[in-house]
Amino acid sequence: VPSLPSPQSLKQTATTTSSSSVDDGETPALLHRSLVTRPHLVDHADGSYLYLADGRPILDACGGAAVAVIGHGNAEVIASTAAQMQRTSYIHTGAYTTTAAEDLAKFILECGTSVDGNDSYLAHGLTRAFFVGSGSEANESAMKIARQYFFERGELQRQHYISRRQAYHGNTFGSMSVSSVLGRRVPYEDVLLPNVSFVNPAFEYHYRHNNEAEEEYAERLIHELEVHFLEIGPEKIISFIVEPVVGATSGCVTAPKGYFSGVRSLCDKYGILLHFDEVMCGMGRTGSYFAFEQEDGGVLPDIVTIGKGLGGGYVPLAAMLVNDRIVNTLRQGTSVFNHGHTFQAHPTACSAALAVQKIIRREGLVSRCADLGTKFGQRLRTEFGSCKYVGDVRGRGLFWALEFVKDKKTKIPFEASVGFGAQIHQLAFDLGVAVYPCVGTVDGVVGDHILLAPPFNISDDEVDIIISTLWRAYHEVELHYDNAERG
Ligand code: PMP
Repeated sequence: VPSLPSPQSLKQTATTTSSSSVDDGETPALLHRSLVTRPHLVDHADGSYLYLADGRPILDACGGAAVAVIGHGNAEVIASTAAQMQRTSYIHTGAYTTTAAEDLAKFILECGTSVDGNDSYLAHGLTRAFFVGSGSEANESAMKIARQYFFERGELQRQHYISRRQAYHGNTFGSMSVSSVLGRRVPYEDVLLPNVSFVNPAFEYHYRHNNEAEEEYAERLIHELEVHFLEIGPEKIISFIVEPVVGATSGCVTAPKGYFSGVRSLCDKYGILLHFDEVMCGMGRTGSYFAFEQEDGGVLPDIVTIGKGLGGGYVPLAAMLVNDRIVNTLRQGTSVFNHGHTFQAHPTACSAALAVQKIIRREGLVSRCADLGTKFGQRLRTEFGSCKYVGDVRGRGLFWALEFVKDKKTKIPFEASVGFGAQIHQLAFDLGVAVYPCVGTVDGVVGDHILLAPPFNISDDEVDIIISTLWRAYHEVELHYDNAERG
């Protein structure tokens, strides 16, 4: 087993210098997130593996950031993308459209694969898709269309967005304004949108009281939400933005039963739009086409944003999907969506994403994700559930997180300086498996967890490698921590 990194080097975990990193002697031309450390240089990728420049294979157990859904190098995707580029490389959507973009929109809006694996038309009421280049842009677009919806209705006093604590919705000004990841807001805090407030997340592991039933917890949250709506003045609120299954900030957190139907009823009561951010948890990741499909009571959002798995990493693509309530209001009003980007609905990107989605559908990969995900989760629970510092093993589909805590009884996290999850990330990486590290506390409570989100077509052998490597990495880090504690 390779030696453990020092806590100091953990700050650099995501971009550790190694023999496969960009040459240290050169000044990098790319502006990376870290200006002092170097990312690993990837030579090529194939299936679930990345191959570093020094030849090391890395089994990507998190698909980058839950992006790779069918792995790398799929010949069919590459061929259809190249064919699209030959046919038309670019059009401006002000005047033109392409079959690639129209077909992808139709495919996503009309078809889903339900949890039981049968392709079915989902009466989810989303009737238009708007394609952009990133999840942040999708959320930005969603925030703008939501405001325009009320503008068209003459409800100009609606100027306020509500989001939740421990939420991440993107890096652009609008999407960051509705995000509560404190670290990322730091230099910008004073210049973000002012009319935003945050309510408590639905996070049973940390916030459900011991004597509280799941449904009671959901009711308490809905009550808190209504109180908050009334404090702000519901007639001033544009939308409530929420991830159905929370990804990176808290680690694959599903909501208690009854929460989302309660949220929907409250939004209806006060005419507030409900925006589901499925940039990370959507596109089959949780074992259903949209994550919200698995919520009780048939909860339907007004706006859904998707990204990551949409293009599976072959192209940068994200989307905002809206229902007829919004489309008709804009059409009957100014008849334009007063927003747009030069590269929106890019034919190459749409064509690649359509090829990815057709493969997923043809090969029944969403139901595989559900089935394999259940087994994967069971194995994670069996292997890690009773470990000394694993507070919680949670997730849905192929979207799982292990949360590390210093004390399982009190659920107190490790001090940030320990970097328990980051050490596991580093060690697993040195052993050839990449997991997604989420380090640093949010609201002073959670944050030390790792996230697993492998491709839907990952092989059983690869799953074995992920579990056994993680097991080895965890136990090394546990031993190291205990030894350090003993002095
Ligand atoms: N929303 C969620 C839930 C996300 O997880 C992310 C990315 N981690 C975003 C929005 C932003 O997407 P992007 O990085 O593509 O801008």
